[in-house]
Amino acid sequence: MSVAQNLSTVKSIIAEAARKAGRAAGDVTLVAVGKMQPQEKIMEALEAGQRVFGENRVQEARGRWEPLRARYPDIKLHLIGPLQTNKVKEAVALFDVIQTLDREKLARALADEMKKQDKFLPCFLQVNTGGEAQKSGLAPEDTKAFLQFCRNACGLRVEGLMCIPPVDEPPEKHFAMLRGLARDYGLAGLSMGMSGDYGQAVALGATHVRVGTALFGDRSSLREGL
Ligand SMILES: *Cc1c(COP(=O)(O)O)cnc(C)c1O
Repeated sequence: MSVAQNLSTVKSIIAEAARKAGRAAGDVTLVAVGKMQPQEKIMEALEAGQRVFGENRVQEARGRWEPLRARYPDIKLHLIGPLQTNKVKEAVALFDVIQTLDREKLARALADEMKKQDKFLPCFLQVNTGGEAQKSGLAPEDTKAFLQFCRNACGLRVEGLMCIPPVDEPPEKHFAMLRGLARDYGLAGLSMGMSGDYGQAVALGATHVRVGTALFGDRSSLREGL
């Protein structure tokens, strides 16, 4: 299957899940996850009209996207991987949305850098819905206080929540938890759902789904050395 064919399949699954949930397909943004994928596949997606992409690593994303920005000025790049404070400057310069805001130190660093660059990016708070020790993200019960901190103390534009459910659990309860938190705190954005479960995520209210393998194929053969 070509990337263009995969794109059209994924979009129709999103549209169908949205329709069933009484939502408009246009309410869901497909974030194509390019991490560890060969450049030809990314180019195919661009040629097929895809403009919203997600990347995990600042360095990898820079190498790929800086040269393409001039040719595709309408690209939107979402940072979906953990952000270290020493990469904040590069991240603010490169990305359009930061989806992985999860701690005070990072919030302060982002706020300072956005002021310096006069570039006030929308952010999503990453919530560790499964309480996994190895995973980044806020504890669900800390979401409210952290949201207030980001807005009031840092002046950040927080527009939504993001989660990555544990791999060994059905994702629905995590999606429902994230939706509940977003509703409680009046946040419109919900970034949830990946290749294996974006249909369910749309059914449960996702506004952004992050899809890699279903568009570009398996990354595993490229993983060595990374
Ligand atoms: C890699 C990644 C994805 C995409 O995963 P697929 O299963 O390939 O669709 C989505 N979100 C995050 C945070 C990721 O790191």
